[in-house]
Order: sequence, then structure tokens, then C-alpha cells
Amino acid sequence: MIARQLQLPNGQQIPYQLDLRARKTIGLKITDHGLVVHAPKRITATQLQQILLEKSGWIQQKLALRLANQVAPMQWLDGEPLLFMGQDIVLTLIAHPTIKAVTLEGNRLLVRSPHTEQADWVARKVLQWYAQQALPDFKRRVALVAAQMGETVSAVALSNAKSRWGSCNSRKQIRLNWRLIQAPPQVIQYVVCHEMAHLKEMNHSARFYALQASLFPAHAQAEKTLKALSPILHRMT
Ligand SMILES: [Zn+2]
Repeated sequence: MIARQLQLPNGQQIPYQLDLRARKTIGLKITDHGLVVHAPKRITATQLQQILLEKSGWIQQKLALRLANQVAPMQWLDGEPLLFMGQDIVLTLIAHPTIKAVTLEGNRLLVRSPHTEQADWVARKVLQWYAQQALPDFKRRVALVAAQMGETVSAVALSNAKSRWGSCNSRKQIRLNWRLIQAPPQVIQYVVCHEMAHLKEMNHSARFYALQASLFPAHAQAEKTLKALSPILHRMT
């Protein structure tokens, strides 16, 4: 392994480990130690540079995802980044003597309160705000999918589970994790379709997956995105 730097046109440098082998193609891998490049022994520096530049979008995306997996828990401070329906928003604390309100204005989640210094108060209010956004969104999605399937649902409720995104029981009650409202709409839709498919198939059989695919064809991509986002979605506890 040889330590190298990839210089991007914007001046950014990406360090990587170069592993020269008897092989014909270039292989890229993101590991705990960053980017590893497996390349043919006879490759020239120019050829290597050119291929890595072509792949730099992919490399940066994967490195960012790795980094995202090492997220710190929320501290509920002014300026902290939040996620809402796949959009980056910024927690904005505004001390106010009387008003207590949480509102989304542009990309800022404004928390006006006499208690902006109290992290647990801010946390409670912001979580409440997320839940208030989540329930009507989830109910609307469930209703649309139910109509499409010719099914009925008896209740849609929010869950606060640590490890599950949703559930469905034989009484046709659907529960969806409020944290999902942070995710991009297609990820929310995927989880809704997954649980709705359980209305007809209470298992993970081939029939279940066929039904899920008919309700949400891009499920594989959405599942991947959800997995990658999971640490971020769990930042709020
Ligand atoms: Zn399932």
C-alpha cells in the first residue's frame, strides 16, 4: 500500500491508499481508513489520476456517507443541522420573553422561547414539532396506498422505537417511527408501502416482496438510503 493524495480541480485533496496488483481493472473501496484503490501494476500516474477524477463524485459521496455513520448526538444548540424530509435545515434558537413556538421558515427551524438555554426543553419542543409534521404526512400516504390496494386501515400511529421503522398487526393498525419524517419522501413512502404490504402478507415471503415491489418498485434503493441515513435519523433520542 502506498499513501497518495488525489487532487480535485476545486483544490480539495483526498488521501488514499494505493495497492498495485496483477489485475486489469481499477477497484475502489471505502474502508475505515478511507479510500483504497486497487490498480494494475503497469498503470501510469496520469491514467490513474484521470480515472480517479472521473470517479471523484462517487468517492466523495461514499466518504460523506462513512462520515455520516459517525454522527454525534444532538446537543440542541443554535446553528445545529437538522434533517426534515430529506432537506438540511438549521436549528435556530431565539430567546423571547413570552412566546413559545416552533416554526419552519425557509431552511431554519425557529424555536422562540424564554427557555432556549435549556437543552431538554428545546429537545422536547423540537421532537413534538417533528411528530406533529409526521402524523398527517404518514396518514395521507397510508390512505393513498390503502386506496390503491383496495384495503382499509383501522389506525395509523407514531412509534418511538429505537430499532424498527414500522409495524403492522392483524387488527390492521399501522405504526410508523416519527423519525422517518426526517428522511427523503421516497424513503418514507418505501416504509409505508412495506408495512402496507404486510396487510395482505404477514411475513417476508416471496409473495410479500412481489407485493411490495408492485407498490414501490424502487424499494432496493430506498432501503439502502434508509440504512445509510439511519445513524442520522437516530441522532434525536
Ligand atoms: Zn416487514
